[in-house]
Amino acid sequence: LQRMSMQTSLREAIDNKEFIIHYQSQINASNNRLVGVEALVRWEHPTMGLLQPDEFIPLAEETGMIVEIDNWVMNTAMDQMSSWYKEGLNPGVLGLNISMKQLDKLNFLQQIETCITSHDFNSNWLELEITEGHMMKNHIEIINTLQKIADLGVNISIDDFGTGYSSLSLLKQLPINRLKIDKSFIEDLPDDEEDIAIVDSIIALARSLKLELIAEGIETKEQAEYLISKECTYVQGHYCYHPLPAEQLTALLTDETISS
Ligand code: C2E
Ligand code: CA
Ligand code: CA
Repeated sequence: LQRMSMQTSLREAIDNKEFIIHYQSQINASNNRLVGVEALVRWEHPTMGLLQPDEFIPLAEETGMIVEIDNWVMNTAMDQMSSWYKEGLNPGVLGLNISMKQLDKLNFLQQIETCITSHDFNSNWLELEITEGHMMKNHIEIINTLQKIADLGVNISIDDFGTGYSSLSLLKQLPINRLKIDKSFIEDLPDDEEDIAIVDSIIALARSLKLELIAEGIETKEQAEYLISKECTYVQGHYCYHPLPAEQLTALLTDETISS
């Protein structure tokens, strides 16, 4: 019963546009400059308050409603980014989480192209974050679609890297620019020897495959320092900034010491 009622209110939420986006800054820790923002959706539920993605994304995925939600996120975030750039601010690259359902859609490529054109957006301001599991499933078609998207100049990263089942040979064929080291490996740095070994290996792998890297879920100075010492300088996490509503990010972007 609860599930059904949630499903109905999710449907209403899409029609009434009850979602908002929080933007989490990505920082180059070697000079403290902002290099990008990740768009993270939240649901402003009329009675339950602000709901986090974990509370509705799984249901949205199951029911296919994720396609409409991600579409809204893509349009709204691109619009916001364009405004920031027009105001002379520099938010860097926009990270968008893309669900498998979205990638599977035949017109996804066209949808991205339309979105880029209609928002006066520059394709290299965009980075699609795709999870490992998604890339590996159904990979021939996915590689084709991703290649066409990459040909537009859009960046592609593998999210939650290290938690899925990467085939290393497939990794070489994918048109990706960047790996995002999953936060579960960062959590116990710099004390846990196994996590150190995993993080060091991912850094070495990225380097030899000439991929960029970012680590997420950085919560402490020690974690940041460890990563900087390994020359993994792009970081994202509560230690730097929490995900923030657009107005607060505008204030942050206006601060010249971080964005220029
Ligand atoms: P994700 O893509 O791995 O996003 C990073 C998550 O880590 C976010 O959770 C973020 O708030 C959280 N986080 C950031 N810094 C820290 C930190 O220092 N420590 C810890 N413990 N967590 C941190 P959030 O916003 O709850 O999103 C959860 C997941 O929901 C995302 O994981 C992503 O998979 C999904 N999601 C969020 N927005 C969207 C969206 O617009 N579309 C789709 N399809 N999925 C989304
Ligand atoms: Ca992500
Ligand atoms: Ca992630």
